[in-house]
Amino acid sequence: MKLKLLLVMLLTVAFGALPVHAAKIRVVTTLTDLADFTRTVGGDFVEVRSLATGIEDTHGVPMKPSFVSLLNRADLVVLVGFDCEHAFLPALLEASKNPRIQLGKPGYVDCSKGVTPVDVPKSTDHSEGDVHPYGNPHYLLDPVLAKIAVQNICAALVATAPEHEAEFVKNRDAYLTTLDAKMVGWQSELAPFKGTKFVSYHEHWPYFAARFGLVYHGTIEFKPGVDPTPRHIESLIAEMKAEHIPLVVREPQFPEKVPALIAKQTGATLVKLPIMPGGVPDTDTYIAEMDYIVHTVAGALKK
Ligand SMILES: [Zn+2]
Repeated sequence: MKLKLLLVMLLTVAFGALPVHAAKIRVVTTLTDLADFTRTVGGDFVEVRSLATGIEDTHGVPMKPSFVSLLNRADLVVLVGFDCEHAFLPALLEASKNPRIQLGKPGYVDCSKGVTPVDVPKSTDHSEGDVHPYGNPHYLLDPVLAKIAVQNICAALVATAPEHEAEFVKNRDAYLTTLDAKMVGWQSELAPFKGTKFVSYHEHWPYFAARFGLVYHGTIEFKPGVDPTPRHIESLIAEMKAEHIPLVVREPQFPEKVPALIAKQTGATLVKLPIMPGGVPDTDTYIAEMDYIVHTVAGALKK
């Protein structure tokens, strides 16, 4: 017995902490922020792929045949939840024929567990638009709520590989501490603009606005997932003029034409903001993405 233990110790010294043939936990995330969190918490023990690259619509990542084989081999699928990925994920999961990651299985990691959604529709008849049926799913744009996703990912990794619990917990705690520290800076950078109103193309920003003391006036879209009508645009322009709303946000997946027209007619500043890492250049991580968002908003409002 003692000899065996000695042999294991020698092997560990010779080949590093990982057993020689240890397989990594294969994780597929829907979006790039979730991939960043999973890599950060999972470290050397995970192999992570994101279906989105960062520039897509969170509700409509274009499906590729390669996604099916990726999901077929995955140990975990990590998603936003609140049916954010309804247009593509259920079909991909079915096609993957992977029993480990189906809804209700331990490999199905819904990061919204523990998040209370805002703007939950009063009815399920889709009169409030088609893409936010269980309330607004864009909670990851609030760094405090994003911490819940990090916790959920860590719990799923621990459940999959309990032997690495200490490493996962250490990585998680270090990341949460970093996020808390970054949050102090983000809060102070946006503090001078408390109460400032803004509009955006899609309803991505209620959690972000609430966290940073901004006021989210509404969207260029008529309803979530429903294109703007000329009448809606007209009344939005009138409201923006009357209330002196200084900022129009365009997310990368939407064309610039209508947001630019609205900004021009109202005198507001138009900014393009990513909704996940990779949405604009140099935003490869969640922290870089939030840095970009906060600096861009503060820069536009300083004018
Ligand atoms: Zn949405």
